[in-house]
Amino acid sequence: MEQYAYIMAGAGAAGLSLTYHLIRAGLADRPILLIDQSPKVANDRTWCFWEARNGLGDALYAPILFRRWQRVHFYSPYFSQTLDLSPYEYKMIQGADFYRLMDQTLSQWPNIVRRYGRVERIEDRPNEAVVHVDGAAYRGAWVFNSIPTPIAGLGSPETPQEGYHRLLQHFAGWVVATPHPKFDPSAATLMDFRIDQHGECRFCYVLPFDHRRALVEFTVFSPRLLPRDVYDHEIKKYLSDFLHIVEYQIEHVEFGVIPMTDAPFETFPGRRIVNIGTAGGCAKPSTGYTFLRIQHQAQQITNALKRTGRPHYRASPFQRRFGLYDSVLLNILEKRRYPAPRVFGDLFARNPAPRVLSFLDETSNILDELGVLLSTHYPPFIAATFDVTLGRLWQQVRR
Ligand SMILES: Cc1cc2nc3c(=O)[nH]c(=O)nc-3n(C[C@H](O)[C@H](O)[C@H](O)COP(=O)(O)OP(=O)(O)OC[C@H]3O[C@@H](n4cnc5c(N)ncnc54)[C@H](O)[C@@H]3O)c2cc1C
Repeated sequence: MEQYAYIMAGAGAAGLSLTYHLIRAGLADRPILLIDQSPKVANDRTWCFWEARNGLGDALYAPILFRRWQRVHFYSPYFSQTLDLSPYEYKMIQGADFYRLMDQTLSQWPNIVRRYGRVERIEDRPNEAVVHVDGAAYRGAWVFNSIPTPIAGLGSPETPQEGYHRLLQHFAGWVVATPHPKFDPSAATLMDFRIDQHGECRFCYVLPFDHRRALVEFTVFSPRLLPRDVYDHEIKKYLSDFLHIVEYQIEHVEFGVIPMTDAPFETFPGRRIVNIGTAGGCAKPSTGYTFLRIQHQAQQITNALKRTGRPHYRASPFQRRFGLYDSVLLNILEKRRYPAPRVFGDLFARNPAPRVLSFLDETSNILDELGVLLSTHYPPFIAATFDVTLGRLWQQVRR
């Protein structure tokens, strides 16, 4: 049986990022195996995130940052404005560029092996874990799993868990090319809530590449996916009704689903198994932003390995308050206590954009959070906070 120091079960954003962090930290001088069901060749996703100009994303991925915007538009029926993000920037990486950079970097390390096959099971043992792939087995001192299935004891994020909130963020996007200049590349549209909400949380966003090309996405936060033609219909309608674009070519299509849940994710489901990425709870429950959190988790694991030889890290207890904020926001959206355009409209209308962004990416201080909380419409937020708190107490009593 082949033996490795580290095995990545799943070599998507999280498995590749962690390997990249190991290389950069000088920890890649030992046998490492990456397993995925297939090689990554397609430009299957676009990653956006916000951070300061010289943040972690820049430090790691500056050569492949495709676009960055200092200003974004926010639209709703109640409040619309162009927001100055300084000191933040909204940044974009294309999946294909990321996979290419990873292929180039990893290929320089002969001790890093890549195999393709279906991971069927991960077996936890006292001093190693064994990954079973299409009848073959690989032993790893540590296995980092990013496969979002019941593998490694992880419940599927698609399955609601009693007592917790669970929405799906589902979206489709088109890269469109227009014959005439139609986009302003100096500002992206972060959220446009002017579209029909159908009682859900629905918005479009626009990432302009230049004057004639942009990624236009239609996004929904709701418990269930829509028929596929609805996404296409909504993008087409948004292009004509709001961007006044009827003549265009669709150059690329993307579709995605991200779990939005406050149900606990098991980061360390076994003695030798660590869940990473979406499977490890990196998707921010109330926004679905995951990419930068994957980078922070990879950094925490790498630091722990350097310090102790083990990957176990601890989240700061002070960060727990963000879990409560996430649950309250999910409660409001799931129970439709207050229309989503108003929830986000109030936040951006009554706070400077950087304050909202730091609140949403969990880097705010208590004063900023107080500012954000005081800017909300109290009745639905108080009702949601009671509901969440009572729900948590009830879960503890039942345990
Ligand atoms: C279209 C799309 C756009 C997104 N945009 C953003 C964004 O703008 N900003 C942001 O922060 N987040 C975004 N996300 C969310 C998140 O960043 C991505 O989903 C990210 O890829 C998650 O990384 P991961 O490693 O957890 O999962 P993945 O990247 O999906 O990697 C998991 C890997 O496991 C492999 N796999 C699955 N099952 C098996 C098996 N049985 N055996 C072997 N291999 C298996 C898959 O092939 C895959 O390569 C987006 C997600 C999608 C789908």
